Amino acid sequence: MSHHWGYGSKDGPAHWHEHFPIANGERQSPIDISTKSAKYDPALKPLSFSYDAGTARNIVNNGHSFNVEFDDSSDKSVLQGGALDGLYRLVQFHIHWGSCEGQGSEHTVDGVKYDAELHIVHWNVKYGKFAEAVKHPDGLAVVGIFMKVGNAKPEIQKVVDALSSIQTKGKQASFTNFDPTGLLPACRDYWTYPGSLTTPPLLECVVWHVLKEPITVSPEQQLLEDSVCPGGRSSCRLNHSWL
Ligand SMILES: [Zn+2]
Repeated sequence: MSHHWGYGSKDGPAHWHEHFPIANGERQSPIDISTKSAKYDPALKPLSFSYDAGTARNIVNNGHSFNVEFDDSSDKSVLQGGALDGLYRLVQFHIHWGSCEGQGSEHTVDGVKYDAELHIVHWNVKYGKFAEAVKHPDGLAVVGIFMKVGNAKPEIQKVVDALSSIQTKGKQASFTNFDPTGLLPACRDYWTYPGSLTTPPLLECVVWHVLKEPITVSPEQQLLEDSVCPGGRSSCRLNHSWL
């Protein structure tokens, strides 16, 4: 069963609750992160990223964004630490961006949006598979990384280059030998909270870790926007994506 949804005036976030009632739920994402009300918790651990570039597989245009997909059939690429119990396997990453600078991120910090936001998605190995994990409150671990325009990020160029080969919905291309650790900022300090997928079906299954330090990409690398939007720039308002 699949319901149409998007980001337009008739199918955008204000309408998602019509088909996905959980849109009015108690732990919906994204949120505004208030730096004044965030509390330091000495019990939280550092995030530990352990990725194997050999698990990268494909890049796919799903009609809302692109996903870079990883082989998640073993524990070769995993995330642990932070607010997490146990091991979470890397399954995909994607980026939310906007039609203009300064409005593409999903989370906001003290009410301010960044230009874009990278989401690295992992699922809890104790549930055996992704589709089962999303049924549980600790099923997914998504790391959110803010992006802003500035210096180039050489490690993201491979993603930018690949987008030209998946310009329409349903297209995919091989995407191998890639370690997303290269996309992380130097500082791994984070805010964490229990939340949800940020697109339908909006399931409340995500332990979020949003990194405090943004990464920068060059204005050329920001071409992302026109590269995969199926409807062209005019339909690319606010955010696109799967999570
Ligand atoms: Zn997302």
